[in-house]
Amino acid sequence: MTPPVPFFDRARGDLAMQGELTAVFQSVIQSGRYILGPEVEAFESECAAYLGVRHAIGVSSGTDALLAALMALGVGAGDEVVCPAYTFFATAGAVHRTGARPVFADVLPGSFNLDPASLARALTARTRAVVAVHLFGACAPMDELLAVARGVPVLEDAAQAFGAERAGALGLLGCFSFFPTKNLGGFGDGGLVTTDDGDLADRVRALRAQGAREKHRHTLVGGNFRLDALQAALLRRKLPRLGALLERRRDHAAQYASLLGGAGLPISLPDAGDAGHTFNQYVIRLHDASLRDRLRGFLAARGVGTEIYYPAPLHLQPCFAPLGPPAGALPVAESAARETLALPIFPELTGDEVARVAAAIRAFFG
Ligand SMILES: *Cc1c(COP(=O)(O)O)cnc(C)c1O
Repeated sequence: MTPPVPFFDRARGDLAMQGELTAVFQSVIQSGRYILGPEVEAFESECAAYLGVRHAIGVSSGTDALLAALMALGVGAGDEVVCPAYTFFATAGAVHRTGARPVFADVLPGSFNLDPASLARALTARTRAVVAVHLFGACAPMDELLAVARGVPVLEDAAQAFGAERAGALGLLGCFSFFPTKNLGGFGDGGLVTTDDGDLADRVRALRAQGAREKHRHTLVGGNFRLDALQAALLRRKLPRLGALLERRRDHAAQYASLLGGAGLPISLPDAGDAGHTFNQYVIRLHDASLRDRLRGFLAARGVGTEIYYPAPLHLQPCFAPLGPPAGALPVAESAARETLALPIFPELTGDEVARVAAAIRAFFG
């Protein structure tokens, strides 16, 4: 029996740096500082330098990064915020939590990123912001989106794209996640907001600490969106390794492309020509949607883990369906939800494992 190929396995990378991580844990305990403080400040400056932005503000999760960024912009009741229908729930969930209305737009058939033409149709006099998602680790077409938005603030949901081109430095604000599966995967929840705008940075910093710039004086109503010192200290040890980790992801993607491309299989692969892609996920698309779940079962029976990102577009989720648009209105997002399958791609995957996944897919199509 060949061993299974897990969809994701964090322990492989973490165990290899276990001694270093344990030492970090001890030093944080000795410092007695657990929330914000010098480790968070150092991590913020290192992220700002890495990402090429003036300000980076550590927060409690990618979801809270989106919420704090939207709150800093003053988005609220009566506003509309355009976002893609095909993304992780939090993109639109954060919009809804500000009191604004998420307006769903369609995505591009190749990259699944926000379609500028669909954005143009979604804009109204009430549009207060646009959230562009860098889905699966490749940047959305920001130049076109910014041109179409005509001055309406464009935020980047860069949760899946830390290290992709200039992700986080392209829109007015950038939002990152350190959820363990992301490119810079943390040891629990964490997130980051980036911006070049000093006033917005100042507002995000206040909002993450209950809206207080000084103790017990609340100029804004914020929340508890703070990043833990332990999380920042551990992430500081991973940041210098990120370039190598992203290289491994790109290597795996190139190997999938060489084993699955050009074989005449009825599937589409991610765009290999995109040098900035960080392959947080490697998502293929089946030309015949009725085969997707069968392929997934076939791979599972051979020990190959896969996931479906995402099985339903957001405008058809029960909580958002009353907002519209109705089924059929965003055809690319709707068919993506039926046709896509994510294959294993984490950095510590081996070339042998990638080859076994590809061989199993070829065997399925006979
Ligand atoms: C992971 C993710 C988020 C949310 O990040 P959390 O840290 O899990 O809160 C938001 N948007 C996208 C596109 C994501 O992939």
